[in-house]
Amino acid sequence: MKIQIKQWSGKNRELLIRQTIKHVASLIFSDQALAIIKTINIKMIKSPQITVCSKQSPADGYLGYHYNTQEGVVSICIKSTLSDTDFIGVLAHELMHLAQFADQRLLMGSEDAFWKINGRYCRYNIQSESYQEYLDWPWEKEARDFANAYLKILNHSKRNEQAKAAKRKESK
Ligand SMILES: [Zn+2]
Repeated sequence: MKIQIKQWSGKNRELLIRQTIKHVASLIFSDQALAIIKTINIKMIKSPQITVCSKQSPADGYLGYHYNTQEGVVSICIKSTLSDTDFIGVLAHELMHLAQFADQRLLMGSEDAFWKINGRYCRYNIQSESYQEYLDWPWEKEARDFANAYLKILNHSKRNEQAKAAKRKESK
């Protein structure tokens, strides 16, 4: 999997991005997803075009992505001025969407989305402008839950490392 990073403004996050994508992919990308997704483009700009499910949405607020199965090229757009934590959260959220698409648990048309539950597709109208409906879409819930869980894992391992470092200091 190739990772290409374009940054037009803000803090240099090249390493953070590469580490996060590698780590998240190892957690949630299936073999199929790894085979399909050949290149991930990360674009960081001050005011990204906001597109969620091909329409404007206030929800994620600052990102959008495109997905192209045929070429296996995906672009994720993230606001460059976010804090590191928010940035990682948004990236993890979007990567979960990529996994959903690659595994065909989520199919997206221009008016409808199909979400696979227990082996069957459930149809959702995505034309509606309601923010609440957007929040309730199961693929959004899953991406949000994953991002939150991922940040907790990171936080936990960071604290463990700090505790270990403190212990090492003590024993010196
Ligand atoms: Zn989302």
